[in-house]
Amino acid sequence: MKIIVLKFGGTSVGTIDRIKKVSKIISNYNKKYSVIVVSSAMSGVTNNLINLSNKISKNFSSSEYDVLVSSGEQMACALIAAELISKGLNSRSWLSWQVPILTEGKHKFSRISKINKTQILSYLKKDGIPIITGFQGINNKNRITTIGRGGSDASAIMLAKFFNAEKCIIFTDVDGVYSTDPNKLKSAKKIKVISYEEMLEMASLGAKVMQPHSIQDARLNRVDIEVRSSFNNKKGTLITKRQNIFKSKIITGISSTTNDAKVTLLGVTDKPGIAASIFKPLSENSINVDMVVQNISANGKETDLTFTIKSDDLSKTKKIILQNRKINFRDLKFDKNVSKVSIIGVGMVTTPGVTFRMFQSLAKQKINIQVISTSEIKISVLINKKNLQKALSSLHKEFKLNK
Ligand code: ADP
Ligand code: ASP
Ligand code: MG
Repeated sequence: MKIIVLKFGGTSVGTIDRIKKVSKIISNYNKKYSVIVVSSAMSGVTNNLINLSNKISKNFSSSEYDVLVSSGEQMACALIAAELISKGLNSRSWLSWQVPILTEGKHKFSRISKINKTQILSYLKKDGIPIITGFQGINNKNRITTIGRGGSDASAIMLAKFFNAEKCIIFTDVDGVYSTDPNKLKSAKKIKVISYEEMLEMASLGAKVMQPHSIQDARLNRVDIEVRSSFNNKKGTLITKRQNIFKSKIITGISSTTNDAKVTLLGVTDKPGIAASIFKPLSENSINVDMVVQNISANGKETDLTFTIKSDDLSKTKKIILQNRKINFRDLKFDKNVSKVSIIGVGMVTTPGVTFRMFQSLAKQKINIQVISTSEIKISVLINKKNLQKALSSLHKEFKLNK
């Protein structure tokens, strides 16, 4: 029988009622397929575990963090397996070390490198339904690892790759990928089919519906993904390679973030290597610098440098900059009241005037653009957080995404 991977997110398994509902979905697919299930933790559980770790220490051991925060998945998988067993099906839970799912890289941010298939395959042959923990793995030192927040998506995709599954379905609380977060803009429209490249940009720029790493894994391994709801039976969104998509709009979607912070160094001595001296210690401390602008120095001696980071990294960044003896500056400013809004679409490569339309549309709403960054298929702007809703709805209209 053909193999299918079904992944359920936190809200989909958030209560016992929901677990009963997803068990029905699983048993239906089991009539036609050999089913591999991946579950995330019940909604809220991972956050609670992280809060507990913070109560011990802000520098909680990262190896113990992984043991702690991955435990929510164990609980959800046992509940699903037991529900299926109580309905007369053959099922059992598998923790990632039991499979095993091997990972590489640092604790908290590992990536799946290999999945051992032997035991699961023989279990599938006996008509078993394995319920496998998402988000977690094991490293070459036999320690539990996790693969980043939202990582169950990547677990599912890597299982689909290693088992050569016919399909990987991501069940969530929305019935597909929308032109923008449907919980932020009512007029958002469901996208029928989207390329890996666009989905990767949308996810990296704030569309939480899919974890960015999972899309990279899917693109590299050519795994087709369907995103759909576990709450209704509506057709979802297909995420696939560009060649499978015949028609696309100039702009496919809009993403936004509310967890960025802006850092400005005023009056930095303008000499070669200065930007590197600022960013090196940040990167050594795993702080990701995103948008960067450096003003042209008016007097050839001093310049201003602005960049964005995640708000969670703000206090660490402040400390690192103030302790950095390699740089001189007049003043240091921080702003957490910012949002990054991005328009994404492969169509912009061949269509002139997209940048102009974006800026004009924001200008009409009197929204000031603070920082800009672009790539081949996206334009991002940093704006004041209070203007986010206005920006989303005007850009959504400008690029006719509600049609
Ligand atoms: P799960 O727990 O199933 O993994 P997530 O909360 O991680 O679910 O992702 C689903 C959420 O993603 C939705 O509730 C929605 O608010 C948000 N989201 C953000 N951008 C989009 C988008 N473009 N399309 C659909 N959902 C989006
Ligand atoms: N439970 C984990 C998290 O909340 C993984 C996931 O939901 O995919 O980040
Ligand atoms: Mg998720």
